[in-house]
Amino acid sequence: MKKKKHFYNYLWIWTIIYFALGFFNILFAWLGMIDFILPLLFAVFGGNKFFCNKLCGRGQLFAVLPKKIKKFSRGVLAPRWLSSPYFRYGFLIFFMTMFGNVLYQTWLVYSGVNSVSEAITLFWAFKIPFSWTYTAGSVPAWAAQFSFGLYSLMLTSALIGLIVMFLYRPRTWCSFCPMGTMTQLICKLENKK
Ligand code: SF4
Repeated sequence: MKKKKHFYNYLWIWTIIYFALGFFNILFAWLGMIDFILPLLFAVFGGNKFFCNKLCGRGQLFAVLPKKIKKFSRGVLAPRWLSSPYFRYGFLIFFMTMFGNVLYQTWLVYSGVNSVSEAITLFWAFKIPFSWTYTAGSVPAWAAQFSFGLYSLMLTSALIGLIVMFLYRPRTWCSFCPMGTMTQLICKLENKK
């Protein structure tokens, strides 16, 4: 019997829309905060990974793409170190440090030290001009700076996820995804109580 589909089975489409919207107006990047806050709320108040299991469009996208387009994933086992605690927690610390840097850059603009950098940074190294996505003065400068930073982080992590999806199994990203690691840790602590 065919499984009944729910609205949340199609959230992978939202992930594509999210990146497309940011391409036209960088302020849509703020919507990415949903992916930061919701998993934490489920983990802290529910002690569960409901977000990962049902609501994560990104995880779904990595699963759906290789089904829709053949050869999008080689389907081979990823090296073990990718899912080792050392790598997972190391990557979580690195990722949160980079998120901290996004906040710091936002603060520098807020306090008038810097002006908005109308560019995104891919893989934390490559600056790409993105000025057509922002009209100066439409929102406070710090809000625009945060958008550029968050979009960079979201796009970089999505690209890493796509690379490991292609190289290994479709949802390899989930084995070291910072949000997955963080919520798993919170759930462990919650369930110990
Ligand atoms: S591990 Fe990360 S990408 Fe995978 S389902 Fe959870 S939040 Fe989404």
